[in-house]
Amino acid sequence: MSVKTITVIGAGIMGNGIAHVAAQAGFETTLNDISKEALDKGLATITKNLDKGIELGKITAQEKDKTLHHLKLNNDLESAVRDADFIIEAAPEKIELKIKLFSAMDKVCKPETVFATNTSSLSISEISAVTGRPQKCIGMHFFNPVHKMKLIEIIRALETDEETIRITQDVSKQMGKEIVTIKESPGFITSRINAVIGNEAFYLLEEGVASAKDIDTALKLGLNHPMGPFEMVDLVGLDTRLSILEYLHKSLGEKYKPCPLMVQYVKEGRLGRKSGRGVYEYTR
Ligand code: NAD
Repeated sequence: MSVKTITVIGAGIMGNGIAHVAAQAGFETTLNDISKEALDKGLATITKNLDKGIELGKITAQEKDKTLHHLKLNNDLESAVRDADFIIEAAPEKIELKIKLFSAMDKVCKPETVFATNTSSLSISEISAVTGRPQKCIGMHFFNPVHKMKLIEIIRALETDEETIRITQDVSKQMGKEIVTIKESPGFITSRINAVIGNEAFYLLEEGVASAKDIDTALKLGLNHPMGPFEMVDLVGLDTRLSILEYLHKSLGEKYKPCPLMVQYVKEGRLGRKSGRGVYEYTR
């Protein structure tokens, strides 16, 4: 099958970025969300990022117009997915929600439609088991900000077939990304390693060993990380990071137990850049 239409479910941090790169690659792209506000915000972010691309000389004004021309907003799941060749789900990191979405999509989509999930850690095999097409389900893990980050981790679930892997690799390459294709395991490569670094940084902060700023500086200048762990978690979202750690803790053991300080921040609504305050404060 050759992919012409892509539907992205969820217009949040990741969904709008995925819709941006899909539309820019020339796919007829539908961005779906239950929230109209999230769709408007998603489109505003895509437009702002395209304008920045023009300003930096990376794209032309015609390319911006073409990208926006390929993009449709939608807040009705059934009509969003019915004719899609390829679906990328980027709804919140909650297994019950992803299962509900995959089950609903399976009832209305064409049998050959590929269901990809952008989950950061959850079991794609478990999500795909509720569909009648587990061989067409796959993990497609993008990175934030999607229009800038080069990698996509492609995750082969228990029953993913070779054709689905090939189609997903082709779509990823058409989006201009580099890929690594791996076997399903909790947290894959990147989330598993990143969760440990980020969690350990919170323990250092909780123990009063150093300030958040000094911990970030140490990892950037001493270990050559391009971002500090707190800058990173504020970008990712503390709620998303906590969900990942809770899942890794449950599936891989004590090493991944979320630091109580992180749990406290999430309870207080300190979710990172998206809420205006995480480890650091952001002026809106
Ligand atoms: P987010 O909270 O920013 O956005 C989620 C969006 O999904 C919201 O706009 C919400 O309105 C929408 N939504 C909720 N229920 C829905 C439904 N039933 N149908 C359609 N839309 C619905 O979350 P995010 O950070 O974009 O994360 C999305 C997924 O991507 C998660 O699985 C997360 O683990 C993964 N991920 C996140 C990052 C990151 O850096 N934030 C990186 C890689 C992968």
